[in-house]
Amino acid sequence: MSTDTRHIVVLGGGALGISTAAHLIRKGVDVTVVTEAELASGASGRSLSWLNSAGERSQEYHDFRLAGIDRYRELKAAHPDSDWLEFGGGVFWGTGAEAARDRHDAEVAKDYASQLLDPQSLSEVVPGLNAVAVDSAAVFNPEEGWVSLPHLIDHLSAQITEGGGLIVTGAGRSSVLTEGGRALGVRTASGEEHRGDAVVVACGPQTPAVVAELGVRLEDASPLSMLVISEPFEVPERVVLNTPRAAVRPNPGSTIAIDHDWYEDQIVTNEDGTYDIPQETVDELVAEAARLYAGEPGIRAAGWKIGLKPIPGDGEPVFGELDSVPGCYAIFTHSGATLALIGGELVANELVDGVKEEMLATFRPERFGQSQVAAAS
Ligand SMILES: Cc1cc2nc3c(=O)[nH]c(=O)nc-3n(C[C@H](O)[C@H](O)[C@H](O)COP(=O)(O)OP(=O)(O)OC[C@H]3O[C@@H](n4cnc5c(N)ncnc54)[C@H](O)[C@@H]3O)c2cc1C
Repeated sequence: MSTDTRHIVVLGGGALGISTAAHLIRKGVDVTVVTEAELASGASGRSLSWLNSAGERSQEYHDFRLAGIDRYRELKAAHPDSDWLEFGGGVFWGTGAEAARDRHDAEVAKDYASQLLDPQSLSEVVPGLNAVAVDSAAVFNPEEGWVSLPHLIDHLSAQITEGGGLIVTGAGRSSVLTEGGRALGVRTASGEEHRGDAVVVACGPQTPAVVAELGVRLEDASPLSMLVISEPFEVPERVVLNTPRAAVRPNPGSTIAIDHDWYEDQIVTNEDGTYDIPQETVDELVAEAARLYAGEPGIRAAGWKIGLKPIPGDGEPVFGELDSVPGCYAIFTHSGATLALIGGELVANELVDGVKEEMLATFRPERFGQSQVAAAS
């Protein structure tokens, strides 16, 4: 975009929208964030938020995620006492030794820090684990970490308001205002208008629906997902665990966050748009998590949240200005926890400095093909 971008409206108060807004504030831009409900009420409020680039993916996506992890390391160095961002490493095992071996080989080929360990060696590296639960081989990634996104959003939103930015919560389902095909602001559900020189749509799993109103198609493969937060207990380990029946990360307040995908088809969508899941399924997921720790501590669910997990149709991130709607920028990504800081930084650079960031080159929205229908009002 251009160097005369002075006021930008960000639609969406999740990790990506808030990070973008905070980076814009640092660059001296006036910012208004408009969001449907409270901050972090979307995917960012129910995310496992494991900071990683484990497994196999395109080189471009891998590089983007590594840069994302680096930014979190810088944040941790600046705030070493934060209990919502830690780098204790990550552990993975699948069903059968091949799962771990294949993953390890792919990681080593990309120079990603990865150790292939048998259960005994793993229990020496990560002593609080239940070695019996581990399959014949596991991968330890010592440079991975986790973040609690609601805490990150608190941290960054304070910078936005201290920098003179405006955060409008409770705006309801809002839409992008256009004139002559160009984005010039946002209209809230009650009809209030917030105008600017450009608009960033960072609506998580709702981004495809918001830009569809502008005639732009983003392929969407967002599944329903659930995140459980435990009651406090003595959490024996600070690592992230990715296992065949439970993925677990530490969480502030001596709790853990747990998710997986084996129960996705048990989630029921009610007519009013709320979701339900059988209590036994939640209990089973928590029991699977407890089995991962030495001594199988008694763990209980304090609560759980269900909603869509944003995933573009081809699995790769979407970051870029819409060709057919100048002034409108779309962000839609899985792994948005890992990408939140670097993504917000690069989007702010593109918006303010008028540069095209090389790191975003393969993630542009037009790869899905864009067509503009009648310009929205
Ligand atoms: C269960 C689960 C596990 C995950 N695990 C990981 C992981 O391990 N590692 C990782 O890196 N990432 C992970 N992710 C993905 C990551 O959490 C998301 O990519 C990221 O939180 C998305 O942030 P966002 O700001 O784009 O969207 P959101 O957090 O969804 O924020 C969008 C905001 O926009 C608002 N909004 C939507 N539509 C409108 C509208 N029309 N008008 C006004 N406001 C609107 C919403 O209310 C919401 O507050 C996980 C996600 C889930 C759900």
